[in-house]
Amino acid sequence: KATILWLRRDLRLSDHPALVAAIARGGPVVPVFILDPLSEGLGAAPKWRLGLSLADLGKRLEAAGSRLILRRGDPLQVLRDLVAETGAGAVYWSRAYDPDSVARDTRVKAGLKADGLEAESHVGHLLFEPWSVETKTGGFYKVYTPFWTAVRERGVPAPESAPARIPAPEAWPVSDALDDWQLGRAMNRGANVCLPWQRVGEEAAQGRLGAFMGAAIAGYGEQRDMPGVEGTSGLSENLALGEISVRRCWHAGQRAMDEGKAGAETWLKELVWREFAYHLAWHTPRIVSDNWRQEWAAFPWNEDKDHPHVIAWKQGRTGIPFVDAAMREMYVTGRMHNRARMIVASYLTKHLLCHWRIGQAWFEDCLTDWDPASNAMGWQWCAGSGPDATPYFRVFNPETQAAKFDPEGTYRRRWIAEAYRQPSETALSYFEAIPRSWGLSARDDYPDPVVGVTEGRARALDAYERRGF
Ligand code: FAD
Repeated sequence: KATILWLRRDLRLSDHPALVAAIARGGPVVPVFILDPLSEGLGAAPKWRLGLSLADLGKRLEAAGSRLILRRGDPLQVLRDLVAETGAGAVYWSRAYDPDSVARDTRVKAGLKADGLEAESHVGHLLFEPWSVETKTGGFYKVYTPFWTAVRERGVPAPESAPARIPAPEAWPVSDALDDWQLGRAMNRGANVCLPWQRVGEEAAQGRLGAFMGAAIAGYGEQRDMPGVEGTSGLSENLALGEISVRRCWHAGQRAMDEGKAGAETWLKELVWREFAYHLAWHTPRIVSDNWRQEWAAFPWNEDKDHPHVIAWKQGRTGIPFVDAAMREMYVTGRMHNRARMIVASYLTKHLLCHWRIGQAWFEDCLTDWDPASNAMGWQWCAGSGPDATPYFRVFNPETQAAKFDPEGTYRRRWIAEAYRQPSETALSYFEAIPRSWGLSARDDYPDPVVGVTEGRARALDAYERRGF
């Protein structure tokens, strides 16, 4: 009897335990991606990026003698239909850990089991199952460093290569056409502006890992904080969709460490930040939507997403060059450097006193590496409302940050046009990307700060004090 392989954020063929198990079960394998309400509801950029990934995966499956079946609708109903059409006896998938996916998967599993089917979830998205990392008293970790200490020496299974052939059914069920889904519909800047910045699919991801291990990893410890330099792996967009397994990354990092490459341990620690984000999302699901520290519920954040300060922030027109460069980088490329993420998040939540959820939602719409757990943890870390967060009274100063991490102004020059007589091409590409309705031109004057660096800091500290923090 056939096995249905329900693909979600595991869009690869190598090191894929659910696929390996489906093949080992014997019988044909029917890979399916379901455009369910969760994927339907993705932000513009991640949804567009998902479409690119599905196109790539479809080709890889065909090369292995298989196909990617595309269906749309409620996942339980779609899977039941496919079971009826193919006579399958089992449905396998890779586990997800964010609260919305967990709720969906729990319902699907119960429904399929009630039908008498084998319904099995497998590891694949993480190095360590979130419940398998426990404190001495059996609780979960709320602070990163002890979490890292608890996992650093753990064994991680070596990555497996992709199966040469995937057994196909005699007849394939019908599939939607990917183009009909129009996953890029809301992403009007997609094909012309954002595409060149993406590295789509399994092969590209492995190439990226290899290139990083061959060069930048050695200097990662020093270079990773410099947004003007290509000092990081860029793998987050691939990891977010599972185009590469984190186990493969982990083993590559371990090898680099054995070879004495200086930045390797720091990089492994970053992979574990991703694990930590899922550890937190699993144990405290409210982190994705609500203040982790509940004392923040009473804080008078500005929650008006149409406030002129919010608009200026989104459009990269705050008048603070480091902040604006970063917001434009994200709009054009679908990515933003980690140091820059911290600075724009601090500026929004502290200088502008806007709710972190406004920033979280804009990132969700714009990032091709959008990840529900890392995005939520990142925002709450910056706002001060999260576990192991930066202290609320630590207000990043974007000017001193710029002097330290972008000393030559490379990053700001790359993304800001107005302040320069001869703007760079990338800076001009921002004006190609933005909607006309924003009414911006590269010939505009660069704005004065909407809230000055010193003034904003004083205002934030005053607001915290008045709330008794
Ligand atoms: P590298 O430096 O090469 O690191 C390797 C991998 O480790 C990354 O690909 C990523 O998977 C993981 N990683 C690195 N730093 C972090 C971190 N701080 N938290 C969790 N995982 C990390 N990352 C996302 O993948 N998706 C998001 O939606 C996201 N939103 C964020 C929002 C905010 C406000 C902040 C401060 C951070 C956010 N991050 C997010 C984390 C981080 O900025 C990105 O993972 C990183 O910039 C990706 O670049 P890279 O792949 O070159 O990373």
